[in-house]
Amino acid sequence: MTEAQVTVAFDALDYGSDQRFAAAHYRFYGDGHGWRVFRDGRLVLELGPGYRLLAARQCGVCSTDLARHHLPFPLPQVIGHEVLAVDDRGRRYVIEINASHAARGVAADCAFCRAGLATHCPDRRTIGIHDLPGGFGRWLLAPVHACLEVPAAVPDATAVLVEPFAAALHAARSVAPHAGERIAVLGPRRLGLLVVAAFAAERRRRGVQFELTALLRDSALAERAREFGADAVVQVDDRASGLGDRAFDVVVDTTGNPDALPVAVRLARREVHLKSTHGRPAAGLRHLTELVVDELALAPLRQDHPVWTGPATGARPRVAWLPETAPPAWLVAAADVRRGDTAKLAASFAADRDGLPRADVAVAASAAQVDAAIRPIVGAEVALVRPRGSILLVPELAHDASPLLAAVAGRGLVLGSSRCGDFAAALDLLAHDALLRRLGERLVTHRFAAADLPAAFATARTRACIKAVVEHPTTGGRS
Ligand SMILES: [Zn+2]
Ligand SMILES: [Zn+2]
Repeated sequence: MTEAQVTVAFDALDYGSDQRFAAAHYRFYGDGHGWRVFRDGRLVLELGPGYRLLAARQCGVCSTDLARHHLPFPLPQVIGHEVLAVDDRGRRYVIEINASHAARGVAADCAFCRAGLATHCPDRRTIGIHDLPGGFGRWLLAPVHACLEVPAAVPDATAVLVEPFAAALHAARSVAPHAGERIAVLGPRRLGLLVVAAFAAERRRRGVQFELTALLRDSALAERAREFGADAVVQVDDRASGLGDRAFDVVVDTTGNPDALPVAVRLARREVHLKSTHGRPAAGLRHLTELVVDELALAPLRQDHPVWTGPATGARPRVAWLPETAPPAWLVAAADVRRGDTAKLAASFAADRDGLPRADVAVAASAAQVDAAIRPIVGAEVALVRPRGSILLVPELAHDASPLLAAVAGRGLVLGSSRCGDFAAALDLLAHDALLRRLGERLVTHRFAAADLPAAFATARTRACIKAVVEHPTTGGRS
């Protein structure tokens, strides 16, 4: 072999669409130009340049993993995306999971990577979720610019939580509580406790005073929620029936349960912030997981919405108008409004040469139109609206509307969502905040050897488990 050639071979457990694990033999072959991945001797993935080989040391089990069979990506694969990995010199890394052009450092004419939306690059693969083998296997191929070295101050037990903590921090920063607001985290467990910790850390950092409440079904978690920074802990039933309507300004839904969303809608005055990617319909919408994946927001159509009144960028916002009724004159004056069938509209925005090949905003009048704005083409994981764009609802909403849509159109509730976070910001906070540095020892309740992955999943589904982490043996190297 020349120096540029590398082969590793290992056994791993594939996750299948039947929700079972099955042993497979993997071989990664790198030739200096790219990598080929073989499963049981068959070529299953060919990757171009921009990946490096790392050894997984630990990998957390998250709700997305437990719901993986509901997600729109091919199976089987080795899953696991909350990874602490090491290189051949023993240096520790956490890995941002989106293998975009920017993360790989490959030149491409990609409007998304250029616009700073690399985590939404349409050509990305995702570690442990979409194509790329994940951290429940021994070896990983990680995008070269997505690997962040872990500061010495952050212990392994906390470093393995950087991926979900970064996502939690992104939620806290997106919500950006105002002074005096009441913020609730609904269903804080493995992700939600990190969301509580992130809000509390942001409050310490920014000095903005707001009230942070954990809404729990399981009283066993009350003490942890307080340790993580909640001012108040309220035990609730499935419907939070002890709490009045609009008891909070913002409710962050971290339950991973579709039935919780109508509860969050009822409790929230300003915003429901959605973190769940459970892959199932919720609140009358089919594509809510995809809404979170694309970090879209639902808001009412109003003339004073920031998208029309914000700083002029020169270009007018591009609007996909889906209702039967005609758009109002003020909107036609303020924006580039296009109407028609959603698939044709998608093609029209895709043909635009400047900016992103999507609408900035879609306007909808029904649940079906909201779903069509999120995924206009059956079988294609492409939205009509750009990542972090908005779907605005007209006040005269169709009667089939869900409680969520009725609340957005009727009383101006906003549904916000966020997915991946900023790893550098998360590592910085974790390294410099003494309380956060110890997150791992407080949150991780169960540890398993990688060979016991099925047991780790079974345990992660139980109430006794907050966070399960899978560990790889430290011996063994490249073949
Ligand atoms: Zn996760
Ligand atoms: Zn890209």
